[in-house]
Amino acid sequence: MKHLNVYFLIFLFPVLFFSCNVPSNQSEEAEAVPKPFEYALVLHGGAGNMNFQSMPEPYQELFKHALDSALQLGLDVLKEGGASIDAVEVVINCMEDNPLFNAGKGAVFTSEGKNELDASIMTGQDLNAGAVAGVTDIRHPISAARAVMEQSEHVLMAGHGASVFAAQVGLEIVDPSYFYTKNRFESFQKAIAKEKHGTVGCVALDKAGNLCAGTSTGGMTNKKFGRIGDSPIIGAGTYANNATCGVSATGHGEYFIRWTVAHQISVLMEYKGYDVETAAREVIEKTLVEVGGEGGVICLDRFGRPAMITNTSGMFRAYGNSEGEHLVAIFK
Ligand code: ASP
Repeated sequence: MKHLNVYFLIFLFPVLFFSCNVPSNQSEEAEAVPKPFEYALVLHGGAGNMNFQSMPEPYQELFKHALDSALQLGLDVLKEGGASIDAVEVVINCMEDNPLFNAGKGAVFTSEGKNELDASIMTGQDLNAGAVAGVTDIRHPISAARAVMEQSEHVLMAGHGASVFAAQVGLEIVDPSYFYTKNRFESFQKAIAKEKHGTVGCVALDKAGNLCAGTSTGGMTNKKFGRIGDSPIIGAGTYANNATCGVSATGHGEYFIRWTVAHQISVLMEYKGYDVETAAREVIEKTLVEVGGEGGVICLDRFGRPAMITNTSGMFRAYGNSEGEHLVAIFK
């Protein structure tokens, strides 16, 4: 009997040894780290229930052209070795100046018939962040958000105080009527009234490996004056962390605040090991759908891989990277 045990062990040892040491495909896959893109950039111009039939083709082309030129501006900054924060600011400034989008010039109106703008920005290497909310006369709210981050000891400034601060740091202050585009765009606004979501956002990864995310908006059409959405709320509408991803959101802000959407995506990657696409789908297509929160996100992981996920029928979006990949799209 004793001999039997010895023979059994002698037989078992190599079986156990080899079964532990032959690498399985699964563990190889788990350890495989994707090669990062040298740089990458993703942007959005809002999400909504838009469809191909209801949006005249010339408007689709206008949007695509606007998305494409903003994308190119940002990619040029990154290609030259610029910082992700500079790329994000350049892209969002360009979209804030374009009345097609609901940010800066062309922003939607409050129930009082005014424009109140929100924006935020966050850098993934230090979790630093800045935001402005309810501002009425700063031409580029995203630049004001950056100034709050870099030139004040605060994260979020609102209303008049934010405007005074923006003027002090040399940003352009405009008459509130600047944002109003009635004369030039009345017919256009009617045609796209249903699609007037148009919040803008951008996430960039630079050659140094730093992620930055930013979002800028006029908020929800006909919102109560004084209402603040998710866009200037760090963790709701905007988030960036070099360990996980950068996120910019667009949609029904109240849900994005309550479900801390942008941070939730990062947390699913950090604690559950999800990839960026799985994490974004979990939050946008499951969590938000269950509670009736409409909208979407654009994300980049730390390797520059994108996720552009919406639970609406469309989201204006574009993506490009150092390998020459280039995408501009509107519908799902
Ligand atoms: N999320 C923005 C807000 O609630 C609106 C939008 O993205 O369309 O203010």
